[in-house]
Amino acid sequence: MTIYFNAKIFTFNGIKSWMKVENGKIIELGIGEVEQSDNSHDMEQHIILPGLIDAHLHVFNLGYHTTTLNLSGSRSISEIQTKLKEFANNREGWIIGRGWDQDLFEEKRYISKEDLDLIKPDQPVVLYRVCGHISVVNSCALEILGINQNTEDPNGGVIEKDKNGHPTGIIKEKALELLIPFIDVDRDRQKEMIAIGLQKCLEVGLTTVQTNDEDAWIIYKELQNEGRMPIRVYLTPYHKEIGREDTPKPRTRDGLLYCDRVKLLADGSLGAHTAAMREPYADTDETGITVYTQTELNKLVGEANTAGYRVEFHAIGDLASEMVINAIEVNNVNDRPIITHAQILGKDLIQKMKDLNIIANIQPPFIITDGAWVDTRLGIDSERRKYSYAWKTMIDAGIHVSGGSDAPVESNNPLLGIYSAIFREVNNGKIWREEERLTFEEALYIYTKGAAYTAKEEGRLGDLAPGFEADFIVLKEDVIDQPELLKDAKVQQVYISGIEKLARS
Ligand SMILES: [Zn+2]
Repeated sequence: MTIYFNAKIFTFNGIKSWMKVENGKIIELGIGEVEQSDNSHDMEQHIILPGLIDAHLHVFNLGYHTTTLNLSGSRSISEIQTKLKEFANNREGWIIGRGWDQDLFEEKRYISKEDLDLIKPDQPVVLYRVCGHISVVNSCALEILGINQNTEDPNGGVIEKDKNGHPTGIIKEKALELLIPFIDVDRDRQKEMIAIGLQKCLEVGLTTVQTNDEDAWIIYKELQNEGRMPIRVYLTPYHKEIGREDTPKPRTRDGLLYCDRVKLLADGSLGAHTAAMREPYADTDETGITVYTQTELNKLVGEANTAGYRVEFHAIGDLASEMVINAIEVNNVNDRPIITHAQILGKDLIQKMKDLNIIANIQPPFIITDGAWVDTRLGIDSERRKYSYAWKTMIDAGIHVSGGSDAPVESNNPLLGIYSAIFREVNNGKIWREEERLTFEEALYIYTKGAAYTAKEEGRLGDLAPGFEADFIVLKEDVIDQPELLKDAKVQQVYISGIEKLARS
C-alpha cells in the first residue's frame, strides 16, 4: 500500500489531505493525520486532482502536426508567405501546413492559389485552416489533383471557383478527401505520430483520451504491447470503418484500450462558414454545408445502432444538431448518444438534448479563437447567440456535459481548457458571453466525471474515491483556490492506476 499525505486533494466529495492506494486502486481518503507505512510520500502541500480526461481530440493529428508547418496566430497573408518560404526551403514533395485563420488577417480575405504560387510555383502546397475543414492549395497541387474549371463539387464538398469559373485554390469539407491519396502517411509513420501524440497528452496531465483516429486500433494495440501507450485510450473510429476486419467490435477492451462508439460528421465549422445553420450567417447569405441529407443520416445512425456501437456526432451549427437529434429520435438511440461541439443551439434543441439524454461534448478552448469573430457570424442581436457555446445553460438544464480540446484544433492542455470554461477569455483580451462562465468545480467536472460519463466509465474514472482507479495528477499551483493560475500551471506528476508515468524534477 502507498500513502500520499500532506496534500490538498480535490475530490467531488470535498477536499482531503491523504490518500491510500493499493493494487492501482484508491482504497481510502481522509483529512488530518494518517498512520505512516513503509511507502509514504510527503506531498509537501501540493495539489492533487483526479486524472484529467479529454473527451474529444485527434491523437494522430496532434502528433502529425508537430511535423508540419504551423501557421497558427498568423496575422497576414504575407506572414503566411514568409513562413511558407522558410519551411519549404530544401523540402521535397508536398508541403503541408495548418493553422491559419482568415479572420486574423490584415487583408481580411482568404488565401488564394496565387498567393501560394508566388512562393512555390512548381511544388504542391496545401495549407489547412485552423479547423481542418477548409484548405488552400496552389496551382501545382490543383494540377496534380486534376482539378480545373470543369471539375464539379463532390457530395458534401465545395471546390471554390471565381467569377470566371476558375478554381481559387480553396477546397472545403468532403472535397478535401481528394488530397488523401497524395498526402496520406504510411503505417509506420502513422504509428510514430500516434506515439508522439500520446506523449504530448501525458505531458499536460491527461490520463485518459477519447480520440477520433481513422484505422488506428491495431496501431494502439501494438503501441500498448511495446509499452508506448502510457495513458488510457478510448478510440472512436469513423462510421465508415464499421465491419472492416481491423475495426474493433463494440465494447472491445484490451488493457488500457477500449472502443464502444463510432463517429459521424453532420456539418463543417463556424470559422469556415461550413457549419450548417437554420438561418443564414449574419455576414453572408449562406447557411453552411450539411454532410448528409436527413434520410441518409437516419440510415447511417440506424446501421451503427444495429451493429451495437454508440454514436458520436460532429455538429456545430443549429441545423446540424437538429438533424442529428431527429436521427437519434427516429432510431430510438438510447445509449448516451454524443453531440460533439454542440456550439450553436436553440431553446428547443437544448430541451430535446435533455429529454433524449444526449451528451454535450464541448470544447471550452474554442472560445480563445472563435470569441474574436463569432458575433459577426451569428449576429450580435440574434436569438441563436443566446444558445451559443451555452455551457452554463446546458449544465443548468441538466444535460450531461463533457470537455475536450479537439486538438490539434486547439491546444490539448486540459488546464487551459478548464481555464477557458471558467473565464471565457478571447485571444483579443475580451471576455465572450460572461454569463456562461462555469465555476472551478463545474469546469473540472466536465474534464473528469463528466468526461468519464461520456465514456461510460463514471464508476471507476473521473474522481478520487474508494474503489476508483488511482489516476491522478500533482500540481504546485493552488488552482483550486486561485483558478487564474490554471493558465500557466504545469503538471508535476501523472499517475495512472497508481503508477507514476510522468515526473518533472
Ligand atoms: Zn474533432
